[in-house]
Amino acid sequence: MLLDMDLGVLPPSLIPSSQSVYVLVFYFVYLAVAGEILPGKVIRGVLLSDGSQLRYRCNGLLALTLLVAILGICAKLGIVSPLVVADRGLELLSATFIFCVLVTLALYVTGRNSSYKSSSLKPHVSGNLVHDWWFGIQLNPQFMSIDLKFFFVRAGMMGWLLINLSILAKSVQDGSLSQSMILYQIFCALYILDYFVHEEYMTSTWDIIAERLGFMLGWWLLHNKVELTVPAIVANCLVFVIGYMVFRGANKQKHIFKKNPKTPIWGKPPVVVGGKLLASGYWGIARHCNYLGDLMLALSFSLPCGISSPVPYFYPIYLLILLIWRERRDEVRCAEKYKEIWAEYLRLVPWRILPYVY
Ligand code: NDP
Repeated sequence: MLLDMDLGVLPPSLIPSSQSVYVLVFYFVYLAVAGEILPGKVIRGVLLSDGSQLRYRCNGLLALTLLVAILGICAKLGIVSPLVVADRGLELLSATFIFCVLVTLALYVTGRNSSYKSSSLKPHVSGNLVHDWWFGIQLNPQFMSIDLKFFFVRAGMMGWLLINLSILAKSVQDGSLSQSMILYQIFCALYILDYFVHEEYMTSTWDIIAERLGFMLGWWLLHNKVELTVPAIVANCLVFVIGYMVFRGANKQKHIFKKNPKTPIWGKPPVVVGGKLLASGYWGIARHCNYLGDLMLALSFSLPCGISSPVPYFYPIYLLILLIWRERRDEVRCAEKYKEIWAEYLRLVPWRILPYVY
C-alpha cells in the first residue's frame, strides 16, 4: 500500500513497466556478449601506478553496426517497434536511473569488501558513505571480466544513438521531420560514430566517463517545430566542424604524443616541456583545448533547437560546469605530479580552455 501511495505521486510515464526493463536487459546483455565475442583491436590502457596495464578490446563500431542492423531487421519484420524508445522514453529513463543506483550500491559493497592490492581493484575508502558511493571505491571495477567503466561509456554512447534513431522514426511517422531535426541527427550521429572509430583514444583519457543527454534535445524538437534560416544553418555547421576539429585534433595530438613524443605536430617537431608535456599544436594554444572543442560540439547539438527557449541548452551548460570543474581538478593533479615542469608549462601556455577569455 505504501508503495502504491509513493508511486501514485509520480507521473505514470515515469514508472518503469516490464517492457522497459526487458529493453534494458536486452541492451546490456547484447553489449556484454558483443563486447566479449566480436573481433576488435586489443589496446593496452595507460600504465597504472603498480606497473600493470589493462586491456581493452575496441570493437564498439562493429557492435554498434551489428546492433543497428539487428534492430532494423527486427523492425522491418514487425518484431520490435522502432518507436519503442521514443514512446517509452521517461520510463526507460527512470528504469536506467534505478539500475544505476543499484549498480553503484553493488560497487560500493563489493569495493568495500575487496582485498585486492592491484592499482585497478585496490579499495580507496574515505569512510564517508556518500563520498565513497558517489566517487567510487575501485579504479577499474570489473564484472565477469568486463571492465565496467569502458562498458558503461559504450552503453551511454550507443544508447544515445538508439534514442535519436527512435525519435527520428517517430518524427517521420508523425510527418514532423524538420531541417532542425535532420541537423541535430547528423551532428550527433557523426559525433557518436567518431567516438567508436577512435575508441582506442578514449583508453588513455584521464577519465573515460562521457555521459550524454541526447533524449532531451530530440524530444524537444519533436514537440517544437523550429525553422532555421540559411545563415543559421551555415553558422551551426561551422560550430560543429570547428568544434570537431579542435576536439578530435587535441585528443589525437596528446594520444600520439604519449605513444611517441617525437612525432611532428602540424608538420613541425613538437615543443616539449621537461620531456613530458606537449606545448605545441592545440596544447600550445590552451591547456585544455579538447574541452573547448567538446563544448562547441555540445553547443552545435543544441543550436538546431533555435534560441527561443533555454531548455535545449541544458546539455552545453551542464558540460561547461562539468568541464570547468574537471579542468580545475586536473590542474591540481598535474601540478602535484609534474611539479616544476607543470609550472614551466603554465608559463608557456597561460590559458586554461579559451585563449584570452579563460
Ligand atoms: P584529458 O584527455 O585532457 O586528460 C588530462 C590528462 O592529460 C592530464 O591529467 C595529464 O595526464 C595529461 N596531460 C595534460 N596536459 C598535457 C600536456 N600538455 N601534454 C601531455 N599530457 C598532458 O582529460 P579528460 O579525460 O577529462 O578528457 C578527454 C576528452 O573527453 C575531452 O575531449 C573531454 O572534452 C571529453 N569529456 C567529455 C565529457 C562529457 O560528459 N561530454 C566528460 C569528460 C570528458 P598524465 O598524467 O597521463 O600526463
